[in-house]
Amino acid sequence: MSSEFDLIRRHFTRATPGAVLGVGDDAALLALTPGRQLAVSTDMLVSDRHFFSDTDPDALGHKAMAVNLSDLAAMGARPRWATLALALPEADEAWLSAFARGLYALADAHGVELVGGDTTRGPRNISITVLGEVGVGQALRRDAARVGDDVWVSGALGGAALALRHLRGELDLGAEAAHCLERLQRPQPRVELGLRLGDLAHAAIDLSDGLLADLGHILERSGVGAVIDCAAIPVAGAFSSFPQHFDACALAGGDDYELCFTAASECADALRQAALECGVAVTRIGQITATPGLQDAHGRVFEHTRGYDHFA
Ligand code: ADP
Ligand code: MG
Repeated sequence: MSSEFDLIRRHFTRATPGAVLGVGDDAALLALTPGRQLAVSTDMLVSDRHFFSDTDPDALGHKAMAVNLSDLAAMGARPRWATLALALPEADEAWLSAFARGLYALADAHGVELVGGDTTRGPRNISITVLGEVGVGQALRRDAARVGDDVWVSGALGGAALALRHLRGELDLGAEAAHCLERLQRPQPRVELGLRLGDLAHAAIDLSDGLLADLGHILERSGVGAVIDCAAIPVAGAFSSFPQHFDACALAGGDDYELCFTAASECADALRQAALECGVAVTRIGQITATPGLQDAHGRVFEHTRGYDHFA
């Protein structure tokens, strides 16, 4: 057993050359690049609500950082710093070192420094705040979609939602299980793509609650509608064996952390090229319309586009 201060020193204190002052004082000191705005986002993961209590702590550290970086990616911001508020039932050294390893591995991959946090005893709860930079007026906001824009998504959808059903014993993914579980447990935030979209896209959102719900937020905030072609939506390979789960998992399933964005049709080639350079696929799945609401190419109207609501 270690004290709170030993624990912080051992697991969460590293050199932070990108900060004026990092972990160890009452507050961190950070200097923004002149002319850039601060983009800030917080995401909390609660045991038994967002993850099973026996989840591999390395994967949990990764995911806690990933879901936060995904929010900055969706703003087109460059992530720079993070803080970590952690509640733990006990100071389990093996759990902590694996959690820190997963968290730092992804943070390091994106040049993010952990500059502070808070540690307390309690039901396991992980809250990370990420801080990033974006050029003034350059952020990819939800309210910026324009009529006539193409609607795009990155990667392939639905794998994480299929994996959750697999873990619950509702279906057996067989040989596809490993790939889908990786999508659920180690999502890859599309940070580089988000940065490249800054000059090309209008609106963007990350897909945490499912395509219909998240695209629905763009439509609502932008005061527009959209038509999407369901046949064009890129999905995890496992759907060839489970086509009946398309609506629930690919359209309404969350946790993929891909980006959905809108852009003028003239940008299509540049977008594909930028995505290629980031090593991420992008697929055009529809178009923004002046008529409000969301429907498919055959006129089927999607009514329930609100997604998961913790208090509904
Ligand atoms: P205070 O009592 O002034 O809030 P703490 O004792 O909570 O300070 O924290 C001491 C230092 O350790 C602070 O710089 C804080 O930001 C940092 N810290 C605490 N917990 C964590 C954590 N889980 N990860 C990173 N830094 C942490
Ligand atoms: Mg404190």
